[in-house]
Amino acid sequence: MQISSQFDSGNITVLEATSPQNIKLTINKDNQSNYYQWFHFRLFGEVFEPHSITISELAKSAYPQGWKDYNVLASYDRQHWFRVPSEFDGDNLTFTFTPEQPSVYFAYFIPYSYERHLDLIHDAQMALFCEHRLLGETLDGRDINMLVIGEETPAKKKIWVTARQHPGETMAEWCTEALIYRLLDEQDGVARALLKEAVFYVVPNMNPDGAVRGHLRTNAVGTNLNREWAAPSAEKSPEVLYVLQAMSDIGVDMYLDIHGDEALPYNFVAGSEGIPGYSPRLKQLEDTFKAALLAATPEFQDEYGYPKDKPGEANLTVASNAVAHKFDCLAYTLEMPFKDNNNLPDPVYGWSVQRCRQLGEDLLIAVRAVVSTLR
Ligand SMILES: [Zn+2]
Repeated sequence: MQISSQFDSGNITVLEATSPQNIKLTINKDNQSNYYQWFHFRLFGEVFEPHSITISELAKSAYPQGWKDYNVLASYDRQHWFRVPSEFDGDNLTFTFTPEQPSVYFAYFIPYSYERHLDLIHDAQMALFCEHRLLGETLDGRDINMLVIGEETPAKKKIWVTARQHPGETMAEWCTEALIYRLLDEQDGVARALLKEAVFYVVPNMNPDGAVRGHLRTNAVGTNLNREWAAPSAEKSPEVLYVLQAMSDIGVDMYLDIHGDEALPYNFVAGSEGIPGYSPRLKQLEDTFKAALLAATPEFQDEYGYPKDKPGEANLTVASNAVAHKFDCLAYTLEMPFKDNNNLPDPVYGWSVQRCRQLGEDLLIAVRAVVSTLR
């Protein structure tokens, strides 16, 4: 039996693996940080023999509530991922798995590798109305890649999309990938209508260092990028510094920042109702966007989410608040579940790549509902 994690976004420590009946593991903290929750490892074991696996010390993980009603993801071919029923006792997540192949991968959510990210960027740059721009370099020396989709003219609205500030929230990049491909589809009426009125600036992976390192929430030096938008620095948060610089140079008429939520089993948005300049105009835009998304898909809902900020009490270090404030524009944080959408539960797959992708495509229907009134 062998357990390994020496690959892109791998993260696990073996405490004990003496027999298939007794495998004890823990998750490593993000570098220079106390956050831990993302895991990704491979088991090479005995075919048709039950393996009992416990991931321990989770009471102190970033989101202990995230393990309640959570089921681990597994894959034999690294393409098709399915859920394994799991039990959480407050500190230990335990699941029993009987492999049908010698080698099986387990992960917190379906991994989205850096290689796939590079493939996405370079496949997209071959499209007619898509330009790849390099915004800068991360602390580990990776690219901060942006795609500009649509022909830039002064009259067009500027719509920004960022994903994976928190690198373990891989659903954000699965969703964004589908949004990009819908925009690039020359036969898609929604995309064509949108690109007549708007240009999209998309950063599909804000945190490639954290992603490759197998982090949940931070970059190479333990910075939570989604608390850096008031005063980013080259030393701690170059990813935010360069994106915010590009936003200032180009302008922003709408912003979507895409995330995953560990605990809540729903898709939802968080708006900018607590920023100092919040206005009836911004509220109207938020409401129109939400109503259109509700009409477009039963995967979205507006009942469960984060508590609303009181007037003037928004945290302006958070990306969507900071951008809404600075550019006086519609800005939402979109959250997807790690577990499932409890309004449409699926015991085999839970929240999945296919559902992330569909939501990414449907987001554009909601963008279309507001695009002509953004400014
Ligand atoms: Zn997040």
